[in-house]
Amino acid sequence: MRIIVLGGPGAGKGTRASLVAEHFGVPHISTGDIFRANLKAGTQLGLEAKKYMEAGQLVPDELTVKLLFDRVAQDDCQGGYILDGFPRTINQAQLLESELVKMGVNIDYVINVEVPDQRIIERMSGRRTCSDCGIPYHIEYAPTAAEGVCDKCGGEVVMRSDDAPETVMGRLTVYHNETSPLIEFYESRGSLKNVNGDVEIEDALSYILKVLE
Ligand code: ADP
Ligand code: ZN
Repeated sequence: MRIIVLGGPGAGKGTRASLVAEHFGVPHISTGDIFRANLKAGTQLGLEAKKYMEAGQLVPDELTVKLLFDRVAQDDCQGGYILDGFPRTINQAQLLESELVKMGVNIDYVINVEVPDQRIIERMSGRRTCSDCGIPYHIEYAPTAAEGVCDKCGGEVVMRSDDAPETVMGRLTVYHNETSPLIEFYESRGSLKNVNGDVEIEDALSYILKVLE
Protein backbone atom coordinates (compact mmCIF):
# COMPACT_ATOMS: atom_id res chain seq x y z
CA MET A 1 0.00 0.00 0.00
CA ARG A 2 1.44 3.36 -1.08
CA ILE A 3 -0.38 6.42 0.18
CA ILE A 4 0.37 10.15 0.17
CA VAL A 5 -1.17 12.24 2.93
CA LEU A 6 -1.72 15.87 1.85
CA GLY A 7 -2.88 18.79 3.93
CA GLY A 8 -2.01 22.20 5.29
CA PRO A 9 0.41 22.75 8.14
CA GLY A 10 -1.23 21.54 11.33
CA ALA A 11 -4.07 19.80 9.47
CA GLY A 12 -3.21 16.64 11.36
CA LYS A 13 -1.46 14.93 8.45
CA GLY A 14 1.30 13.56 10.64
CA THR A 15 -1.08 12.03 13.17
CA ARG A 16 -3.19 10.50 10.41
CA ALA A 17 -0.19 9.25 8.44
CA SER A 18 1.11 7.47 11.52
CA LEU A 19 -2.29 5.83 12.22
CA VAL A 20 -2.64 4.70 8.61
CA ALA A 21 0.95 3.39 8.55
CA GLU A 22 0.32 1.36 11.68
CA HIS A 23 -2.95 0.03 10.25
CA PHE A 24 -1.29 -1.22 7.04
CA GLY A 25 2.00 -2.21 8.71
CA VAL A 26 4.18 -0.02 6.46
CA PRO A 27 6.69 2.75 7.30
CA HIS A 28 5.51 6.30 7.95
CA ILE A 29 7.86 8.63 6.08
CA SER A 30 7.71 12.28 7.08
CA THR A 31 10.19 14.61 5.37
CA GLY A 32 9.61 17.12 8.20
CA ASP A 33 10.59 14.45 10.78
CA ILE A 34 13.68 13.51 8.75
CA PHE A 35 14.77 17.15 8.61
CA ARG A 36 14.12 17.63 12.34
CA ALA A 37 16.12 14.48 13.17
CA ASN A 38 19.01 15.81 11.06
CA LEU A 39 18.76 19.20 12.71
CA LYS A 40 18.92 17.59 16.12
CA ALA A 41 21.87 15.40 15.15
CA GLY A 42 23.64 18.46 13.72
CA THR A 43 24.24 16.95 10.27
CA GLN A 44 25.11 19.06 7.23
CA LEU A 45 21.61 18.44 5.84
CA GLY A 46 20.09 19.57 9.14
CA LEU A 47 22.16 22.76 9.10
CA GLU A 48 21.11 23.56 5.55
CA ALA A 49 17.43 22.81 6.15
CA LYS A 50 17.31 24.77 9.39
CA LYS A 51 17.08 28.28 8.00
CA TYR A 52 14.20 27.41 5.70
CA MET A 53 12.27 25.49 8.33
CA GLU A 54 12.59 28.16 10.97
CA ALA A 55 11.36 30.76 8.49
CA GLY A 56 8.39 28.57 7.54
CA GLN A 57 9.72 28.26 3.96
CA LEU A 58 10.12 25.10 1.92
CA VAL A 59 13.50 23.39 1.93
CA PRO A 60 14.83 23.49 -1.67
CA ASP A 61 14.04 20.49 -3.87
CA GLU A 62 17.77 19.72 -4.32
CA LEU A 63 17.89 18.79 -0.63
CA THR A 64 14.47 17.20 -0.34
CA VAL A 65 13.91 15.04 -3.38
CA LYS A 66 17.01 12.85 -3.26
CA LEU A 67 16.53 12.30 0.44
CA LEU A 68 13.01 11.02 -0.16
CA PHE A 69 14.00 8.83 -3.11
CA ASP A 70 16.79 7.23 -1.06
CA ARG A 71 14.35 6.55 1.74
CA VAL A 72 11.69 4.84 -0.41
CA ALA A 73 14.37 2.68 -2.04
CA GLN A 74 15.20 1.04 1.30
CA ASP A 75 14.22 -2.55 2.05
CA ASP A 76 11.51 -1.76 4.58
CA CYS A 77 9.65 0.21 1.87
CA GLN A 78 9.27 -2.68 -0.55
CA GLY A 79 5.77 -3.46 0.73
CA GLY A 80 4.70 0.18 0.62
CA TYR A 81 4.79 3.33 2.74
CA ILE A 82 2.83 6.36 3.82
CA LEU A 83 4.30 9.69 2.67
CA ASP A 84 3.66 12.64 4.97
CA GLY A 85 4.79 16.10 3.83
CA PHE A 86 6.06 14.94 0.44
CA PRO A 87 5.38 15.96 -2.27
CA ARG A 88 4.79 19.57 -1.35
CA THR A 89 5.16 21.23 -4.77
CA ILE A 90 4.07 20.33 -8.31
CA ASN A 91 7.74 19.89 -9.21
CA GLN A 92 8.23 17.36 -6.38
CA ALA A 93 5.06 15.52 -7.47
CA GLN A 94 6.26 15.28 -11.07
CA LEU A 95 9.70 14.06 -10.00
CA LEU A 96 8.08 11.50 -7.70
CA GLU A 97 5.82 10.32 -10.48
CA SER A 98 8.72 9.61 -12.83
CA GLU A 99 10.76 7.98 -10.06
CA LEU A 100 7.86 5.63 -9.26
CA VAL A 101 7.54 4.72 -12.93
CA LYS A 102 11.24 3.77 -12.88
CA MET A 103 10.66 1.69 -9.76
CA GLY A 104 7.63 0.05 -11.40
CA VAL A 105 5.17 0.99 -8.66
CA ASN A 106 2.35 3.47 -8.20
CA ILE A 107 0.55 5.45 -5.52
CA ASP A 108 -2.71 3.79 -4.46
CA TYR A 109 -4.34 6.78 -2.78
CA VAL A 110 -3.77 10.43 -1.99
CA ILE A 111 -5.59 11.39 1.18
CA ASN A 112 -6.31 15.11 1.35
CA VAL A 113 -6.95 16.19 4.94
CA GLU A 114 -9.26 19.21 4.83
CA VAL A 115 -9.23 21.74 7.65
CA PRO A 116 -10.24 25.43 7.41
CA ASP A 117 -7.39 27.94 7.95
CA GLN A 118 -9.03 29.37 11.06
CA ARG A 119 -9.00 25.95 12.75
CA ILE A 120 -5.39 25.47 11.70
CA ILE A 121 -4.36 28.68 13.41
CA GLU A 122 -6.22 27.64 16.60
CA ARG A 123 -4.69 24.19 16.58
CA MET A 124 -1.12 25.25 15.97
CA SER A 125 -1.09 27.55 18.96
CA GLY A 126 -1.76 24.49 21.14
CA ARG A 127 0.40 21.99 19.29
CA ARG A 128 3.40 20.53 21.09
CA THR A 129 5.88 18.01 19.69
CA CYS A 130 8.18 15.43 21.27
CA SER A 131 11.73 16.62 20.70
CA ASP A 132 12.95 13.00 20.68
CA CYS A 133 10.49 10.91 18.68
CA GLY A 134 8.51 13.67 16.93
CA ILE A 135 5.03 12.60 18.07
CA PRO A 136 2.63 15.55 18.01
CA TYR A 137 0.40 16.44 20.96
CA HIS A 138 -2.08 19.23 21.63
CA ILE A 139 -2.48 20.95 24.99
CA GLU A 140 -6.28 20.62 24.76
CA TYR A 141 -7.15 17.87 22.28
CA ALA A 142 -4.31 15.40 22.79
CA PRO A 143 -2.40 16.23 25.98
CA THR A 144 0.48 14.17 27.37
CA ALA A 145 -0.26 12.21 30.55
CA ALA A 146 2.49 14.11 32.41
CA GLU A 147 3.05 17.73 31.42
CA GLY A 148 5.93 18.19 28.99
CA VAL A 149 6.82 14.47 28.88
CA CYS A 150 6.21 12.22 25.85
CA ASP A 151 3.85 9.31 26.65
CA LYS A 152 5.64 7.06 24.21
CA CYS A 153 9.36 7.71 24.74
CA GLY A 154 9.67 9.98 27.80
CA GLY A 155 11.28 12.74 25.69
CA GLU A 156 10.75 16.44 26.27
CA VAL A 157 7.57 17.77 24.64
CA VAL A 158 7.92 21.36 23.40
CA MET A 159 6.49 23.86 20.92
CA ARG A 160 8.23 23.56 17.55
CA SER A 161 9.93 26.84 16.73
CA ASP A 162 8.04 26.96 13.42
CA ASP A 163 4.70 26.64 15.26
CA ALA A 164 5.07 30.19 16.59
CA PRO A 165 2.02 32.23 15.41
CA GLU A 166 4.04 34.54 13.07
CA THR A 167 5.56 31.58 11.28
CA VAL A 168 2.25 29.71 11.02
CA MET A 169 0.72 32.49 8.86
CA GLY A 170 3.70 32.26 6.51
CA ARG A 171 3.45 28.47 6.32
CA LEU A 172 -0.24 28.75 5.42
CA THR A 173 0.63 31.14 2.58
CA VAL A 174 3.31 28.74 1.34
CA TYR A 175 0.77 25.91 1.55
CA HIS A 176 -1.84 27.79 -0.50
CA ASN A 177 0.67 28.90 -3.14
CA GLU A 178 2.89 25.83 -3.49
CA THR A 179 1.14 22.76 -2.09
CA SER A 180 -2.61 23.13 -2.60
CA PRO A 181 -2.24 22.86 -6.45
CA LEU A 182 -1.41 19.19 -5.74
CA ILE A 183 -5.08 18.60 -4.95
CA GLU A 184 -5.98 19.19 -8.58
CA PHE A 185 -2.88 17.34 -9.78
CA TYR A 186 -3.92 14.14 -8.00
CA GLU A 187 -7.61 14.64 -8.69
CA SER A 188 -6.81 14.54 -12.40
CA ARG A 189 -5.03 11.22 -11.84
CA GLY A 190 -8.06 9.76 -10.08
CA SER A 191 -6.27 8.98 -6.83
CA LEU A 192 -7.53 11.81 -4.60
CA LYS A 193 -9.66 11.05 -1.53
CA ASN A 194 -10.85 14.01 0.54
CA VAL A 195 -11.31 13.49 4.27
CA ASN A 196 -12.68 15.88 6.82
CA GLY A 197 -9.77 16.77 9.11
CA ASP A 198 -11.95 18.50 11.66
CA VAL A 199 -12.84 15.36 13.63
CA GLU A 200 -11.68 13.90 16.94
CA ILE A 201 -8.38 12.03 16.71
CA GLU A 202 -10.10 8.85 18.02
CA ASP A 203 -12.29 8.89 14.89
CA ALA A 204 -9.61 9.91 12.38
CA LEU A 205 -8.57 6.42 11.25
CA SER A 206 -12.12 5.10 10.79
CA TYR A 207 -13.02 8.15 8.67
CA ILE A 208 -10.02 7.49 6.44
CA LEU A 209 -10.66 3.76 6.09
CA LYS A 210 -14.28 4.49 5.14
CA VAL A 211 -13.12 6.81 2.35
CA LEU A 212 -10.63 4.20 1.05
CA GLU A 213 -13.25 1.42 0.80
P1 ADP B 1 3.80 20.89 8.67
O1 ADP B 1 3.11 20.06 7.67
O2 ADP B 1 3.06 20.97 9.96
O3 ADP B 1 4.18 22.24 8.13
P2 ADP B 1 6.22 19.22 8.45
O4 ADP B 1 6.82 18.52 9.60
O5 ADP B 1 5.60 18.41 7.39
O6 ADP B 1 5.17 20.24 9.10
O7 ADP B 1 7.34 20.17 7.77
C1 ADP B 1 8.09 21.08 8.52
C2 ADP B 1 9.00 21.89 7.60
O8 ADP B 1 9.93 21.00 6.96
C3 ADP B 1 8.31 22.61 6.46
O9 ADP B 1 7.77 23.86 6.85
C4 ADP B 1 9.46 22.75 5.46
O10 ADP B 1 10.34 23.78 5.82
C5 ADP B 1 10.20 21.43 5.63
N1 ADP B 1 9.73 20.39 4.67
C6 ADP B 1 9.13 19.22 4.99
N2 ADP B 1 8.82 18.51 3.90
C7 ADP B 1 9.22 19.25 2.83
C8 ADP B 1 9.16 19.09 1.42
N3 ADP B 1 8.61 18.00 0.85
N4 ADP B 1 9.68 20.08 0.64
C9 ADP B 1 10.22 21.17 1.18
N5 ADP B 1 10.30 21.40 2.50
C10 ADP B 1 9.80 20.46 3.33
ZN1 ZN C 1 8.62 10.89 22.20
